Amino acid sequence: MSTSNPVTAVKLVLLGEAAVGKSSLVLRFVSNDFQENKEPTIGAAFLTQRCTIGAKTIKFEIWDTAGQERFASLAPMYYRNAQAALVVYDVTKPASFIKARHWIRELHEQAAPNIIIALCGNKYDLIEGEIEGEDAKRKVSVEEGQKVAEEEGLLFFETSAKSGHNVNEVFMAIGHKIPEKR
Ligand code: GDP
Repeated sequence: MSTSNPVTAVKLVLLGEAAVGKSSLVLRFVSNDFQENKEPTIGAAFLTQRCTIGAKTIKFEIWDTAGQERFASLAPMYYRNAQAALVVYDVTKPASFIKARHWIRELHEQAAPNIIIALCGNKYDLIEGEIEGEDAKRKVSVEEGQKVAEEEGLLFFETSAKSGHNVNEVFMAIGHKIPEKR
């Protein structure tokens, strides 16, 4: 890749309940791959990915934190000096949406005031094309996600690490909001 552009490093942290697909979103973005039965992340994993957005070259430094409660107290260590955060829930799991709102509150209280936050309703492939109804798999509506994002000033996407739906788009949208290096 051409390196004529200055490279802007962006520390990005993933937050969300266990098994919503945080590691899978990173795997899709970094390797364009998906694993049906992923081993859970213990503690935190670190990966980087470069991408070019217009005149900017961004190097995402991605911290994927474990969703298990016993690691929750470590999260501040990861988001404290992060420029961006992906807060992930599973569109089929209402409890994961409640948890996402908790993380958003915590970021607003404790992370950098200008942190760029993207809210991701993941596992979109499970509900794609289904008709609304009592036994529908979708348990969090697009409107609920959009409403929280609007109120809290977040980017919002429904994503699928499995199909790849909107995965690059999330990172590109974050990249767009990163100020150009001078
Ligand atoms: P994490 O604990 O939040 O990092 O979640 P993982 O990435 O480990 O994913 C948990 C489980 O959900 C794994 O079995 C994944 O294969 C599955 N999974 C992750 N993303 C998706 C998705 O977009 N769609 C579907 N159907 N399954 C997914």
